[in-house]
Amino acid sequence: MPSYAFRCRECGDTFELTRPMAESSAPAACPAGHSDTVKLLTTFGTIKGGGAVPASAPAPSGGGGCCGGGCCG
Ligand SMILES: [Zn+2]
Repeated sequence: MPSYAFRCRECGDTFELTRPMAESSAPAACPAGHSDTVKLLTTFGTIKGGGAVPASAPAPSGGGGCCGGGCCG
């Protein structure tokens, strides 16, 4: 069962609830009893944050490769 993070806009507390996906958008009261809460980004625990994978290799531009300059014979 996924867990959902909420933040209370009244006291600023952040809390987590485990609930069925069908109730993911149901209102949730904070531990202090406030009902003015907003749902934060859902985390399923296995989402990778990225940053370690290079976005793209630099593409060769305008020739200049090995065979372009006669170094290959
Ligand atoms: Zn609260």
